[in-house]
Amino acid sequence: MITSLGTGTRGPVQPHVSGELPGLRSAALLARQERWESRARTYPRHLPIALAEGAGSFVSDADGNVFIDFLAGAGVLSLGHNHPEIVRSVARQLGTLTHGLDFPTPVKDAFTQAQLSMLPPRLRTRMKVHFCGPTGANAVEAAIKLCKTATCRGGVIAFRGGFHGSTHGAMAVSGLVAQKSPVHDGMPGVHFLPYGSLGTYPTGPASRLGPQACADQLEQTLTDSLSGVPLPAAVLLEVVQGEGGVVIAHPEFLRRVRDVTRALRVPLIVDEVQTGCGRTGTWFAFEQYGIEPDVIVMSKALTGIGIPVALILYDAALDTWAPGAHIGTFRGNQLAFAAGVETIRVYRRDDVLGNVRRRGEQIANALSELVTDPWVRDVRGRGLMWGIELACPDDGRPAPRLAAAVQMHALRHGLIVERGGREDAVIRILPPLNVTADVLDTALAILIDAVHACTAQAFANSAEGGV
Ligand code: PMP
Repeated sequence: MITSLGTGTRGPVQPHVSGELPGLRSAALLARQERWESRARTYPRHLPIALAEGAGSFVSDADGNVFIDFLAGAGVLSLGHNHPEIVRSVARQLGTLTHGLDFPTPVKDAFTQAQLSMLPPRLRTRMKVHFCGPTGANAVEAAIKLCKTATCRGGVIAFRGGFHGSTHGAMAVSGLVAQKSPVHDGMPGVHFLPYGSLGTYPTGPASRLGPQACADQLEQTLTDSLSGVPLPAAVLLEVVQGEGGVVIAHPEFLRRVRDVTRALRVPLIVDEVQTGCGRTGTWFAFEQYGIEPDVIVMSKALTGIGIPVALILYDAALDTWAPGAHIGTFRGNQLAFAAGVETIRVYRRDDVLGNVRRRGEQIANALSELVTDPWVRDVRGRGLMWGIELACPDDGRPAPRLAAAVQMHALRHGLIVERGGREDAVIRILPPLNVTADVLDTALAILIDAVHACTAQAFANSAEGGV
């Protein structure tokens, strides 16, 4: 057991932070990182700690501070850090076979069947699986290539606010302009349309269009002979835009996207890299909308504790690509397969999806008090994927400095949270899916305090003439 986190020996673990952050040891490691690692590093710029050990929903830093980890490896750690049963399954597999390219193995077969068993019954018999290089972005690339090959078309329709990864193709279909603008000559043929979301979020001028109008735009773009856009190889979307700031698709929008794409025989790719594996309360987020995608992209949380793996599930009718069409050395990670099989067993035994729904209600209740705060533009989420959007009460503009202050305040009080959305002004939480009610209560109290403390300060600053 992890000693610095005291699991099992001194009662329930509590977050505790002593002194300033970063502490001395973290500061030294951060300095070495800055000296030797790429400028493109991200998380430690906003969360200045060096990680040491993890257990469940907790992680400690190099100075012995203990945090509740609601970044959870950007949604990867669905069963928290080092879930003991998953660790044991990986350890067993370690001595048997670790790497298998794309040869069949017993554990790979068990993993494949376990993944297929999570599909809604109507999809189970007609979907095939392709194992990709072990990242979400690689699986997005595979999905796009599959659809291009099967349709003999080139374009992709994506949506504003979406995020699909940092490789060339995945970046080309993502909304994040700052990431793509320095990298010239991206993948051609990508068109962005407005995303029909629930509520009226400040996700840019186009979002003032209602969900029906957004669906109309898609339909017109695909059917108007003067739209300028040839029929694409695929339409690609997230059911809840995660990095985009927890923007939830409106059911009408999503159903019409499905109807229009089906009528025109354009494959619909649903990127469940972040929403998948139960994050929103069902194994796939699309299940809550009663739609059936043609291609599903899965990665992040498949193995519970972050052993990398990624795959696409797709309609067998699309399976026209040639042997070797999407290869990659690390598609045969047997440790991931063992972990993935065990993850699904633990989900079923412990009713993890039920926990996600119950804890989601707990969050909704607790965070509802924030909506009266003038700096809180919106609080929204599904299951264990939530965002608090911060904006200036005077002009409705995103409040990124306030969001950074809230993130840092929470960190100083023992809670790690993420930011996302336009200008990173949305505070995001992605707790482990087996988080307990008590740990969640503790975390929400820290978060609510952080928002109140920082918005009070922002109010005082704005009264003095500057935020
Ligand atoms: N799709 C979605 C919806 C994501 O949230 C992410 C990562 N945040 C990706 C794709 C890319 O995954 P990866 O970082 O593993 O390439």
